[in-house]
Amino acid sequence: MRDHPSPIDLHSHSTASDGSLAPAALVAAAAAAGITTLALTDHDTTAGIDTAADAARALGIRLIPGVEISVTWERRTVHVVGLGIDPGAPTLRKGLATLQDHRLRRAETIATGLSRVGLDDALARVGALAGDGQITRSHFAALLVESGLCPDARRAFKRFLAPGKVGHVPSQWVELETAIAWIRDAGGHAVLAHPLKYPLSRSARQRLLRQFRDAGGTGLEVSSGRPQRSEIETAAADALAFSLYGSAGSDFHGDSQPWNTLGHLPPLPDHVPSLIDLHPDFA
Ligand code: AMP
Ligand code: MN
Ligand code: MN
Ligand code: MN
Repeated sequence: MRDHPSPIDLHSHSTASDGSLAPAALVAAAAAAGITTLALTDHDTTAGIDTAADAARALGIRLIPGVEISVTWERRTVHVVGLGIDPGAPTLRKGLATLQDHRLRRAETIATGLSRVGLDDALARVGALAGDGQITRSHFAALLVESGLCPDARRAFKRFLAPGKVGHVPSQWVELETAIAWIRDAGGHAVLAHPLKYPLSRSARQRLLRQFRDAGGTGLEVSSGRPQRSEIETAAADALAFSLYGSAGSDFHGDSQPWNTLGHLPPLPDHVPSLIDLHPDFA
């Protein structure tokens, strides 16, 4: 589908998780790309938000505080984005701290697994790559590429980090209802991220959407990354069927995933109510 530069981008990552740009640099890149409203949604952390908000203020654009929470649903990982959250809300803070703990312990296990295929000292090296940010599988993928074990990150995921491979650890993230409760308690809207990226049958996806809506979820990422027209149509129909507001975000990560570009995402179809209209601060 053709790129449609959009002034609103509700899903992006910084070096607080697996993005390539520091929060202030991300905001500067967004402003340069013509974005007027950007949500920072790092994996299981809000650590970049204060700096990003300062940068946004200085550049005259709107920064929506967000987070992308890792959820285990029916033994699979799904992602729930929280938008318009108060990063200081105690329940959210405590909850994210447990996920950050889990990330660290998981990294130790992944590093042990990868030592079997000749990747030495992976935990220390991945920690250096992540810096102050959360350690993600993207960092392990970068390390596998840097070490010459893989030609690119996609293949690193496929050969080493996907379920069943030596560097995969079955994660126990948080329950769907819990993640939504944290977000709501922090004053935010819960949005199911990239609904068509999960390996789910149509009926499983519909089960997930029903459970998500019944637990207080309000939004669905109808336009995510670089979707095909058919994906937008499917997600739009899901949003209408489950009375969810449509959201749109590039899932920008910077150089580590160059195929997603800030603001380059197709608009929501007109007949889908937009999450932007739900919240006075969003537009
Ligand atoms: P984690 O949350 O630590 O399991 O890491 C998941 C992140 O890895 C996702 O948010 C993506 O940014 C990235 N990722 C997952 N699958 C792939 C893939 N096949 N190629 C490149 N990046 C991927
Ligand atoms: Mn990511
Ligand atoms: Mn995601
Ligand atoms: Mn994301």
